[in-house]
Amino acid sequence: MLEKTGVPAREQVEAVKPTQERLAKGPVAIVECFQEIPCDPCYTACKREAFLPFEDINDLPQTDFEKCNGCGICIGACPGLAIFIVDESYADHEALIMIPWEFLPVPAEGSIVQGLNREGEAVAEVKVKDVRSAGKNKKTSIITLIVPKEFAHDIRSIKV
Ligand code: SF4
Ligand code: SF4
Repeated sequence: MLEKTGVPAREQVEAVKPTQERLAKGPVAIVECFQEIPCDPCYTACKREAFLPFEDINDLPQTDFEKCNGCGICIGACPGLAIFIVDESYADHEALIMIPWEFLPVPAEGSIVQGLNREGEAVAEVKVKDVRSAGKNKKTSIITLIVPKEFAHDIRSIKV
């Protein structure tokens, strides 16, 4: 499915999801990187050693969720735009998610945008809480969104 559509299968997504216990503790990185390619900037970007060492440059990244504090630094380092932060501890019915964004326009803080699932379908209106630039050339923005908690693991992009 991934090779044909660019959309990972549900089993792939579930396999990289932290436990519910870890998700409840606060922000954590979810790395939806499913293709074996020679790439490891996520590993070198994380100063908390939350990525396990790569034995081979083509290995898929493995995350130690207990070491991750959800800082989001790895989001801007990932050329594949494959890393997201989910914070289920934000509120009773809302979660924060952080997504990479490399399109124009960059959404304004406080604006309401459409939250899109991995298939590109609009699933909920979400609020842009925060926008910051990241990455080597500052061309990647990291957008923090307030989303309905039930969509925290579905929304992976936005329509501005
Ligand atoms: S969010 Fe921060 S602590 Fe977690 S894996 Fe990324 S860089 Fe490391
Ligand atoms: S930097 Fe991104 S694309 Fe490269 S291995 Fe890490 S998660 Fe995958």
